[in-house]
Amino acid sequence: MTRPSDESESTKKFGFGRKWPKPRQKSGRKSRGDKQPAWWTEGVMFTCLPDCGRCCDEPDGLVYLSRDDVQRLAEYHGKEVEQWLESDCRKVHDGRWVLNSKEDRTCIYIRGDKRCDVHKAKPAQCRAYPFWGENMKNDQSWQKTKQLCPGLDHHEAILIDGETIKLHLEADAHSEQSFIDW
Ligand code: SF4
Ligand code: SF4
Repeated sequence: MTRPSDESESTKKFGFGRKWPKPRQKSGRKSRGDKQPAWWTEGVMFTCLPDCGRCCDEPDGLVYLSRDDVQRLAEYHGKEVEQWLESDCRKVHDGRWVLNSKEDRTCIYIRGDKRCDVHKAKPAQCRAYPFWGENMKNDQSWQKTKQLCPGLDHHEAILIDGETIKLHLEADAHSEQSFIDW
């Protein structure tokens, strides 16, 4: 899933308005003196609707890539990493690697039917959506996420448990760091 914004390219990230650069999110972790568990520890009702694609086809988004993402996607395409980076990726201004975009400025892998062309190998950022730190940091950000993602509280949604959500948050935070040199 991708992260757009209303500002310059360098602030955009596919998946509804993720700003960049930003301070590291610590959603789900207790701060000093805060004994309250995160609001989502009991789980969240969610299912990704296969023909939705709303979080992928926002123009000017960014999909940050971890090293694991890059290796998996290069292998998925039967290419060497350097070859795949050259063909399907680009660097943003601070040198981090992201997926390329199509001419309409949407993700290179979003298909006409709104499905992901690399679903089985898609980046961790995409797998983690909507469980991103900035989405879950407070009620306001979560309500906004719910307005944008019809899979949240959908009648076919299933309970995503707190441990799984925590793993998504951590994986997304890791992939957002991306890398500069392969
Ligand atoms: S890689 Fe797939 S899931 Fe990720 S933004 Fe692109 S189309 Fe969406
Ligand atoms: S249901 Fe939510 S996560 Fe799935 S494609 Fe739509 S907006 Fe994205």
